[in-house]
Amino acid sequence: MSNPILCRNNDNGRLDIVYDYDRVAESFSKSSIEKRVPRGVWRYWELIPVDQRYASPLCEGNTPLLHAQRLGGELGVRRLFLKDETRNPTASFKDRAMAVGAAKAVEMDRKDVVIASSGNAASSLAAYSASLGLRCTAFVPEDVAMGKASQLLLYGARVLRVKQVEEGRDPTVDLMMQTVKELGWYPCPSFGPFNPYQVEGPKTIVYEMVEQMGWSVPDFVFIPTGSGCLATGIWKALKELRLLGLIENYPKMVPVQPSGNMSLVRAILQGKSFEEVEPEKWPKSIASGLLDPYPWDGDAAIEGVRTTGGTAVAVEEEEIRDAVKKLARLEGVFAEPSGAVGVAAVQKLLEQGVLDASDTVVVLVTASGLKEPEKIASTAELPLIQPALSELMRYLS
Ligand SMILES: *Cc1c(COP(=O)(O)O)cnc(C)c1O
Repeated sequence: MSNPILCRNNDNGRLDIVYDYDRVAESFSKSSIEKRVPRGVWRYWELIPVDQRYASPLCEGNTPLLHAQRLGGELGVRRLFLKDETRNPTASFKDRAMAVGAAKAVEMDRKDVVIASSGNAASSLAAYSASLGLRCTAFVPEDVAMGKASQLLLYGARVLRVKQVEEGRDPTVDLMMQTVKELGWYPCPSFGPFNPYQVEGPKTIVYEMVEQMGWSVPDFVFIPTGSGCLATGIWKALKELRLLGLIENYPKMVPVQPSGNMSLVRAILQGKSFEEVEPEKWPKSIASGLLDPYPWDGDAAIEGVRTTGGTAVAVEEEEIRDAVKKLARLEGVFAEPSGAVGVAAVQKLLEQGVLDASDTVVVLVTASGLKEPEKIASTAELPLIQPALSELMRYLS
């Protein structure tokens, strides 16, 4: 059965969505956008490939761009900004993608939607399915984090954990594709080759960021990366804004991966082409949202990095933990490990002299720490005392 949203070549290529940019330019201008009342994804409706009337009312996006002065001071960069994506309806940026992907399923009159995900994209699709009346099946890894698992269950998705049995392959993706082929379900994972519509949602991070910066761009954007789909959306949005004459320059794009799953970063640092990317055999890291063994959208991510003069960074587990703590203690921003890797990468590039104290830097903080608090903290760390002032005094001394 041919599926209208997959590439006919059957080679896992992404169908890039192209708009009539001359027509878009008629209404997509600074003054028109600034006057708009809707915020979030649908504020930029001309560059979203679904009719708004199919949208869920959950209100994704419209996240703040925080000037992180205390964290910036500690790291040594004055203009450090956090795009705080923890504030989305299900607490990750994946809501921007799933808002579009799920609305498209409604527009196409599909009832069964299916996803392969380490957790965030799945809980997001489950929420949008609940909101729009779709039936959602989610394939997740064996060790899915508790916060994500409980969201999935409570939003009412059918959730199955799947074992990894073969090196370098994501078993959840294999199973999802079988349901698409054999059962005709609508695939909506957060990777481009399986659903080209959802990629368009995260583009709005860039539209918002540029608007929040007074129609200018930073010197660097740090992007937590697994499949490379977020980086692909960032790149596409930058190209679109430049094509429409709304920005003049590109920020340098910097995808960030954990060292236990860095196939895309390795390829970028070694100057390799996308075709030469080797999947990671057994990905491992506390950054559970970044464990795709293969960067499905790496082609566009690599193009974005090379064209913008960016680079890529791999960070160690200790550096990730440290970044989570610094974000929380210095800025009051609570991120899951995957969401905090950008901060670790800023520190690394400052040490290497790639970043300068005078650069303007935006770090995407992609998901909330409430998703998997057990990774960083445990109640065993909290002292337990008798209800007596003397006990407190003993503790304080
Ligand atoms: C999915 C995810 C990412 C990375 O997105 P990709 O598009 O797979 O590269 C980053 N951070 C978090 C928290 C995620 O869940």
